[in-house]
Amino acid sequence: MESLDNLLVKAEAAHGHLCAGQILGVRMALLGLQLLGINDPRGADRKRLVTYIEIDRCATDAIGLVTGCRLGKRALKFRDWGKMAATFVDLNSGRAVRVVALEDSRELARQLFPDVEPKSRQQMLAYRELSDAQLFREQWVRVRVDASELPGTKGERVICPRCGEGVNFGRFVESDGQSLCLSCAEPTLRYWQPES
Ligand SMILES: [Zn+2]
Ligand SMILES: [Zn+2]
Repeated sequence: MESLDNLLVKAEAAHGHLCAGQILGVRMALLGLQLLGINDPRGADRKRLVTYIEIDRCATDAIGLVTGCRLGKRALKFRDWGKMAATFVDLNSGRAVRVVALEDSRELARQLFPDVEPKSRQQMLAYRELSDAQLFREQWVRVRVDASELPGTKGERVICPRCGEGVNFGRFVESDGQSLCLSCAEPTLRYWQPES
């Protein structure tokens, strides 16, 4: 596995800056991969891994970088739960491990580098030094990745009869004998509303 320092250089380039979230994300991904025994996630093992990420912050980019799992490859699954947590699924073995960043890591950072200001720098230094056990809790879990959710699945494409837009991956609802897209089936759940 690539070193933390190497990965942080790449993470900084990809994300635009180095920050505490990047360091936490890189380390979280390294821990998940290490627990699964995956050493070359962007090379020989690149088809082995699916990652579920529970937050869309700086760490998310870092986790995508280290694991090679990307939204556009369907290997990165976003669950908008606002938690600094990710689950790494080994498709070969069927094993999965969920890693959560511990709440007291900021306090540990303060204890470790009390004189360093600002807090962001304090955390960046500490998140390199603290042990995995100080930063994270891990839990072996079961994740059922449906065949239709796997990377590389094409799936059929359905045209919504109401709006005329194409829908992939079975993201439609049967309603009154029609296959409607989600935004036509449940207009109140739309994230957008047309301008009147
Ligand atoms: Zn950042
Ligand atoms: Zn529609």
